[in-house]
Amino acid sequence: MKKKKRRLRKKRIRNCLIGLILLIGVGIGGFSYFQYIHSNSYLLKQIGYQKDEIEIILKQSPKEIDTILKKEYHKNMVSLLQEQYFLLDHLDRYLAYSKKHPNKSMKDVVTLVNVNRDREFYENSKKTDTSKKELMLVNKYYALGKDYQPTNIVSISNQYCYGENEIKEEVFDAFLDMWNAAKKENLTLIITSSYRDYETQEILWNRYKDQQGQAWADSISARAGSSEHQTGYTLDIVTYNSILNDFENTDEFKWLQKHAHEYGFILRYPKGKEDITGYDYESWHYRYVGVDVAKKIHELGITFDEYYAYFIENK
Ligand SMILES: [Zn+2]
Repeated sequence: MKKKKRRLRKKRIRNCLIGLILLIGVGIGGFSYFQYIHSNSYLLKQIGYQKDEIEIILKQSPKEIDTILKKEYHKNMVSLLQEQYFLLDHLDRYLAYSKKHPNKSMKDVVTLVNVNRDREFYENSKKTDTSKKELMLVNKYYALGKDYQPTNIVSISNQYCYGENEIKEEVFDAFLDMWNAAKKENLTLIITSSYRDYETQEILWNRYKDQQGQAWADSISARAGSSEHQTGYTLDIVTYNSILNDFENTDEFKWLQKHAHEYGFILRYPKGKEDITGYDYESWHYRYVGVDVAKKIHELGITFDEYYAYFIENK
């Protein structure tokens, strides 16, 4: 009788234990399932992303993952994310632009949207942030006001230029260093244009417009406020016996290609980058941005517009 009771109690304890283990098991399982259906991985799968795409998305920052989770599936999303100069703030514009231009690579989409080429020239131009000094951006999307005048302007001696020219002192100092270095190799750099004020640019553009209309004027000249020459950081450089368009065939040009960045200058409108800068190739137009940035731009092989979008405005 006693033995039977003891066996019964043992059995009950064993059943209780089994029950408890089962309960814990179900609990853990349920919790894991709950966790899984709320995981980014599961949610991305629900949106339609494949395993390999999910792996790449999950490597992005929490903010990026969060943004992607709020959007519908997009076949270009993963390629966009992997682009070197991808900016999360531009995601909607990238997607809209790539839809409109299905033949463009994601690299081009990111580059062009970063420099605002998904918008019309001069449409809702932003005001140039002049506090950036030698890194201020002036183009067909960022304009200087009528009242902006650079400080510390010096006139350039005739030894270095054609006609009357003025430029910011720090730019002239850098130019002199560059001029001397070129001279050591029997090369002569000559400035043909430098600081131009708002009014001068206005007169210039209006003259072109009167001659052959607005579209033509826009194709060869910047509108007032949108010319880099107003910054006081820009020089047009040529040499003896060369006019602007011939300059690229001179040894002086070849030397500048190799060395301008060492003195803080960059070729502002390079060949093959017309879509990005919004300007025709100009072998003579150099912009002072300081040695560090000029070196970085030279190294990366990008334009100043791209540099500004990613490394300055994105900060
Ligand atoms: Zn110029």
